[in-house]
Amino acid sequence: MAATSCPDVSELVAEARRLYEQVFGGEAPLTAVCAPGRVNLIGEHTDYNQGFVLPMALPLVTVVIGSQTSGRDVTVVTTTKDADEPRRVDFTLPVDGSPLSPGLPSWANYVKGVIQHYRAPPVPGFRAVIASTVPLGGGLSSSASLEVAFYTFLQQLKPDDGDKVSKAVACQQAEHTHAGVPCGIMDQFVSTLGREGHALLIDCRSLEATSVPLADPGLVILITNSNVKHSLTGSEYPTRRRQCAEAASILGKESLRDATMNDLEEAKDRLDDVTYRRARHVIEEIQRTVQAAEALKRGAYREFGKLMVESHNSLRDLYEVSCRELDELVSTAMEVEGVFGSRMTGGGFGGCTVTLLQAHAIDRTILHIQMLNLNSPDDNSNRNSLQDPVSLNVGGEIYTTTLGTL
Ligand code: ADP
Ligand code: MG
Repeated sequence: MAATSCPDVSELVAEARRLYEQVFGGEAPLTAVCAPGRVNLIGEHTDYNQGFVLPMALPLVTVVIGSQTSGRDVTVVTTTKDADEPRRVDFTLPVDGSPLSPGLPSWANYVKGVIQHYRAPPVPGFRAVIASTVPLGGGLSSSASLEVAFYTFLQQLKPDDGDKVSKAVACQQAEHTHAGVPCGIMDQFVSTLGREGHALLIDCRSLEATSVPLADPGLVILITNSNVKHSLTGSEYPTRRRQCAEAASILGKESLRDATMNDLEEAKDRLDDVTYRRARHVIEEIQRTVQAAEALKRGAYREFGKLMVESHNSLRDLYEVSCRELDELVSTAMEVEGVFGSRMTGGGFGGCTVTLLQAHAIDRTILHIQMLNLNSPDDNSNRNSLQDPVSLNVGGEIYTTTLGTL
């Protein structure tokens, strides 16, 4: 049972359990599972271009607890920090294999999508409670941790015969068809296959994953939340995907994974400036990610950090998915001695930065970042100046796991 090595989890399970007993009149839930969020160290917007990514799973997790019921009714309750009250959804599973359509509330579509794509249908009725320490919409992939945790929960009710890769793919499909987000495979993949003390180099074309050890006690990864919500990605993300597909097609390639900078330079006349810049980011970022994984294997943290900063600058200038707050968090972190590198992480337009630094520099780095006031006087959006940094000694406890019978 992994709960003991992951301190947040037992508390989360207890919280979910209390809520379960309150909502379902004292009846005890039978099973508990969890799946992690992730931070992407490098390789941004490369996954849907069939390139490489290098994320690591986090000890921030989503827990699902619950029990099977005899009928076909489903009730799911979720408790999240962004809502005062727990939210609840009730629906009935279709009897004749007809699809379970997405609808309202929108958060429940992640659950419905996983049911729809579960590899051992039909799913029995159940009651479940979700609790999570992954911030919602913060670029740490609360969505994939919810999908993967839910899939793992369904496996407890009715085992499937798939492997971890097919599980990740089913969860990705759930997000595509039911949440309407055409995401790449990275988030579901690392949430399913992430290993303690390792980053995961994922080849998003072959779906091969290589664990890269990342368990140096002298090293810390700091995640800083800009607290800017990335809702803009709603329209910007599909636009970037379209621009990449367009660039690949003009270059005569199946995807930008197959293109080199030479190919791009030769085709420059046939590309408009924006499409050129989008493609350049992707082609160079794929190279950077492979180099960064090699650097990590050698313990060459300074080199790794330099690649992180190059990645950030490219996301800011060429791919145009950063924002003022993320840029300031990165440049502020880079001012501190002992910091190797820093960059925005996740889709962009807000969310978090990830910083690699020497363990002894952690206190002064957090202090320095906290002194940064991100609010500007004409700014009336819901930002605040406290960035809630989360510092992780690399090699933290990270699992997709069954916590066992309660
Ligand atoms: P990210 O994955 O970076 O956190 P997304 O926009 O992809 O951001 O996913 C966030 C959405 O996922 C939320 O708005 C909500 O609909 C859903 N979600 C994630 N975790 C939970 C949860 N614990 N309970 C309910 N919904 C959740
Ligand atoms: Mg997500």
